[in-house]
Amino acid sequence: MKKMFMSPIITLLTVNSLYVFYLAPLFATPYVESELNESTQDKEQATIDITATIKPSNLLKSDEPLPINARILSLLDLLTEEPKKNLIEVERILPQIKAIDETFNSAEVYLMHFLQGLIEHDAQRDKKAIRELEKTLPLRKNIPKKQLYLPEFAEVNLILSKSFSNVGDFKQAFEYQDKYIIDGYRYYDAIRNERIAELDKTYATDHKLKQNELLVNQNKIERFKIKDAENKRFAQQRNISILVTTVVVFLLLLLKQLKIRKRLKSLAKTDTLTSLYNRRTLFEQGELLVDTAISEQQPLSVILLDIDFFKNINDTYGHDAGDHVIKAIAQLGSETMRSRDVFARLGGEEFAGILPGVTCAEAKAIAERLREKVENMELSALKIKQQVTVSIGVACLDSLSSDFDELLNAADIAMYFAKANGRNRVCLYNENIEQ
Ligand code: GH3
Ligand code: MG
Ligand code: MG
Repeated sequence: MKKMFMSPIITLLTVNSLYVFYLAPLFATPYVESELNESTQDKEQATIDITATIKPSNLLKSDEPLPINARILSLLDLLTEEPKKNLIEVERILPQIKAIDETFNSAEVYLMHFLQGLIEHDAQRDKKAIRELEKTLPLRKNIPKKQLYLPEFAEVNLILSKSFSNVGDFKQAFEYQDKYIIDGYRYYDAIRNERIAELDKTYATDHKLKQNELLVNQNKIERFKIKDAENKRFAQQRNISILVTTVVVFLLLLLKQLKIRKRLKSLAKTDTLTSLYNRRTLFEQGELLVDTAISEQQPLSVILLDIDFFKNINDTYGHDAGDHVIKAIAQLGSETMRSRDVFARLGGEEFAGILPGVTCAEAKAIAERLREKVENMELSALKIKQQVTVSIGVACLDSLSSDFDELLNAADIAMYFAKANGRNRVCLYNENIEQ
């Protein structure tokens, strides 16, 4: 019966010891073994992490890891490289470190107890090992929590667990094993949090860099936009200038064209040598004025002037001198006429005048005045020594109720009558002349 009652306890203890010796170390492996088997470089990194905290400022902060003596750290390193082989070396050096006349901090004392405990445990002096390792317990309160989670510190629990197991105290062994695993998780949590914080920091830095890059790009875009707007404004101004220039040029060309047209029109109306109306304009104006005079029953007279012996002048003084004589007589004729009269060059050395509102007698008197002016014309500048005279025929609506053609024809007849009667005279048309 007692045997039956004991067997579940024995089974439980067996399972428990199996867990402590075989399974738990397996769980713990990633923490203990992997940390111990880590490359020397990684270990160095860890060592550096600890020693790096030896700063005066750290001493003032209770949550910062306590600094660890470099010799103790080298002993821990030795164990990491080859635990079994180097334990002898650790056993030799540790008393020397303890003998140094130096005040060690709680963490250093803790580690020295751990190393001593490890030596005792390895020599299968587990009770001694437990005593040595338990000396670390009161020190824990002086060591920051996150330092206690470090493998070097947490392994105290594992060795304690093993030693308790060796002395048959499986309950204690289990508890220390449990602590060891919990500390391991905390250690990894701390590492994970640290890495996350680092990643966060990196991410924040990256994010800031990206933001800066974005700002730089945005600035570039803004600058491009400003440049683009400037270009557009410049293009707009250029287009306006081109448009204005085109309009101005177009207006100037139009003005020039209008001037040319006006000039052509006036050229078509006038005689080039004398600038008087030409034959065509004379007939246009004559028809209009005669029609008006007839409809208004107003008098109108026509005179026709021909230079006497003009061929002679050309032959004696040259064609250019003849041209000057023609121009001089045109000038005298224009001066003699009123503004409402029309004086035109009919062709060659012949001129005609239309005098609206002028009776036969008045027209004859005007013609007489013109004849006299020509007769007294000064021609010494042209080196013409002879006198230039004209014969003028006059016809008026009083005696002939007819059209302009007929009127001009009548004046022509009167002019030939003057020629026939000795030239340099004015003759008024009447029916007797025609006969
Ligand atoms: P008449 O007294 O009978 O009129 O004699 P005339 O010599 O004036 O008459 P005629 O018809 O024989 O000669 C006219 C001359 O006028 C002939 C021509 O060479 C000249 N003549 C015509 N037009 C011009 C011109 O524009 N310039 C010059 N210099 N001479 C012209
Ligand atoms: Mg003639
Ligand atoms: Mg003539």
